[in-house]
Amino acid sequence: MRKLTIPAFNELDLFDACTGEMDEVARREFTASRPQIQAAAIDFAAHSVTRTWCQLPRARHGHREEIVAGELSKGNLMDLYDEGVVKSKGRPRDIYDAILVAAQGRCPYCADIGTTRTLDHYLPKAKFPGLSVHPHNLVPACRDCNTDAGAGFPTSQNLQPIHPYLDKECFFSERWVHAKVIRCEPVVVSFFSAPPVHWPDIDQHRAKQHFIDCNLKDRFSSQVSGELGPLILQRKSSLAVFSPAQFEAHLRIIADDVNLLLNGWKRTMYLALCESDWFCSTDFAGDWLAN
Ligand SMILES: [Zn+2]
Repeated sequence: MRKLTIPAFNELDLFDACTGEMDEVARREFTASRPQIQAAAIDFAAHSVTRTWCQLPRARHGHREEIVAGELSKGNLMDLYDEGVVKSKGRPRDIYDAILVAAQGRCPYCADIGTTRTLDHYLPKAKFPGLSVHPHNLVPACRDCNTDAGAGFPTSQNLQPIHPYLDKECFFSERWVHAKVIRCEPVVVSFFSAPPVHWPDIDQHRAKQHFIDCNLKDRFSSQVSGELGPLILQRKSSLAVFSPAQFEAHLRIIADDVNLLLNGWKRTMYLALCESDWFCSTDFAGDWLAN
């Protein structure tokens, strides 16, 4: 749920960089199929406008030998990425690295919890081999969010994950992740997705599904204790002079911090804390420290 700028490479830059490194025979074979790769990219662009990627034609499960684009088989195009891009020491790998570093190490799918390790095919190459080296189908991702291994993609629009380059602005600029403070020892902050009701049904479904697919309820919760423990200790010491209203204002500074992701765990947690009358007014006399 971090929006990323679309890579500054066009649809065939990576394909052409790969063919540039091939021997004569392979280059001729791949270049002959360039129009079909371009056609797949045009189809992808059209479906990106309507966010209906699930409707793009799919390759069959298995069947690596099946011809899917011009003279090229599904296996040819999957290997083009694995061998021609990832293992390249030349221009294809330079493009790969440029796309990867643009995320600055922060995974866009899980709102910065994970560290980006590899590029993820938003549309898995086993299902959409014609897009295996399309730069706009390659998204930096952490290990937990990289879905390539599963190689599935939903057939329903409602279930499509949020695309960090190409998706609707509302997923990034409007609040749809919330949290509530649960008064218990230790304090619990529970995250949930609740997209605005004025959103189209499809977008509400997609946001909720993204939250589930990336396991954000648990992964956000796992971030809480490291922040909440020290905060409660502060409230019992240096911040003990604050009235509930002053403490609330103190928490709201972080809840409103535009440098943090709107739907990330930290802003969401601080909003829940400052909106909790109990949290702002208790003296934490018991064993409230998160552990
Ligand atoms: Zn991630």
